[in-house]
Amino acid sequence: MPATAYVRETLSGWGRFPVEPAHVYRAEKRAELRELLASGAEPSYIARGLGRSYGDAALNAGGGVVRQTRLNRFLSFDPQTGILECEAGVSFAEIIRHFLPRGFFPPVTPGTQFVTVGGAIAADVHGKNHHRDGTLANFVTDLQLLTADGRVLHGSPSENADVFWATAGGMGLTGIILTARLRLRRVESAFLTVEYRRARCLDEALDVMAETDAGHQYSVAWVDCLATGASFGRSVVMQGDHAPAARLGKDPWKVRERRPVTLPLHLLAFALNKLSVAAFNALYCASHRDRAGQLVDYARFFYPLDAIRNWNRLYGRRGFVQYQVMFPPETARSSLSLLLRRLVQAGYAPYLAVLKRFGDRNQGLLSFPMKGITLALDIPVSRALVEVLSGCDSIVLDGGGRLYLAKDALMSGRTFAASYPRLEEFRQLKARLDPAGMLSSSLARRLGITGPGVASG
Ligand SMILES: Cc1cc2nc3c(=O)[nH]c(=O)nc-3n(C[C@H](O)[C@H](O)[C@H](O)COP(=O)(O)OP(=O)(O)OC[C@H]3O[C@@H](n4cnc5c(N)ncnc54)[C@H](O)[C@@H]3O)c2cc1C
Repeated sequence: MPATAYVRETLSGWGRFPVEPAHVYRAEKRAELRELLASGAEPSYIARGLGRSYGDAALNAGGGVVRQTRLNRFLSFDPQTGILECEAGVSFAEIIRHFLPRGFFPPVTPGTQFVTVGGAIAADVHGKNHHRDGTLANFVTDLQLLTADGRVLHGSPSENADVFWATAGGMGLTGIILTARLRLRRVESAFLTVEYRRARCLDEALDVMAETDAGHQYSVAWVDCLATGASFGRSVVMQGDHAPAARLGKDPWKVRERRPVTLPLHLLAFALNKLSVAAFNALYCASHRDRAGQLVDYARFFYPLDAIRNWNRLYGRRGFVQYQVMFPPETARSSLSLLLRRLVQAGYAPYLAVLKRFGDRNQGLLSFPMKGITLALDIPVSRALVEVLSGCDSIVLDGGGRLYLAKDALMSGRTFAASYPRLEEFRQLKARLDPAGMLSSSLARRLGITGPGVASG
């Protein structure tokens, strides 16, 4: 098939909002990507991995969307160092399937294994271990980047470091990541030892995490924002560490296989509502008593939502947004409390809320994490939501916080510019690598990262 062959599709991110028509290209070989960029077939292009960003980062209304999932070859692996070289379309699920039985695990992982290496680097993803290990970029030794003019640049923290730190977190706007080398983590089993602690409110969860996170590789809290009165913000703090082989029986890699279920359409028609979620939350809280040393397999610990393939459809026809905010330590408690109060008062209590503590920031120009607290909130889309969230954006700015681009669908360019202080450096580097603005996305234009004239129509 020629590099310029495309399919018309209606696309969205994981939140199913916004939904946009697209010309979708699917390269099978790296050379085809270069051919496509040189063809002039579209005014602009954006790479797309597995579409697990929530909003419009991997959409490009009026331009081309280039799927990377066929470019998914493993290229080399060194069992001494754990360094894996692969094409950027390889997914974390594929890495785990091949390398976990050999004693290696992704060093940083988001809450789903259905992301590509390219998508994960482009968002500079964080996991439950940011307080210890930082983002994925800390484990990328180097990468190959196809730029808009067809050059292939080698980037690493020591070679073309400016390009490397613009690409990690750069949401596909510096070029198409072709290959990367990642340092995998050596583990002794497919299990974690997990400690669960219940907290009566958000403040208590933050106290528990501040006191005990340093003793664990992974830490996260699930927060119930639908409970009312004194129970508002009750949480379950979950902290885990890779389990040593000695804790397991004969086969430390054997995990009971659970096939992900696909919810039938008639069930989806009932969509989630406050009552059903509040009931689920109460059950979840009651079933997680304080326990330590619990053995939990990696899939249940890291990827509980992957158990339902199409859970994103539960939010109904209009979809949902994930509002992931972070605040520095000085303002985190007061700003989070203000933000949640504002949402609840407006009738938008989040259905799902996940809390993590971030360690120090890295050099990524648009990387999201910096020292402080992050809370990710799932909220169904409705007409008034845009206005409510724009009120929340003021709380974010007043508290010196910011929103995560990989989840964002609604932020304004003004809020973005005010909260990402290295944006101008990013723009300058982009202008050098891509003067004609050939790499653009719906998110990039909405936020004014690339000019409005880049993609016409
Ligand atoms: C259930 C769930 C849980 C999540 N949990 C977390 C979490 O804990 N932490 C976290 O950080 N994120 C989390 N995410 C977000 C997710 O990790 C990121 O959005 C990630 O970028 C998705 O990867 P993808 O392959 O699906 O990329 P896509 O969504 O397809 O694309 C995302 C961005 O990457 C760019 N991109 C993709 N491939 C390439 C390439 N080859 N070269 C250059 N750019 C490219 C796209 O242009 C786009 O800007 C979660 C998402 C879901 C659905």
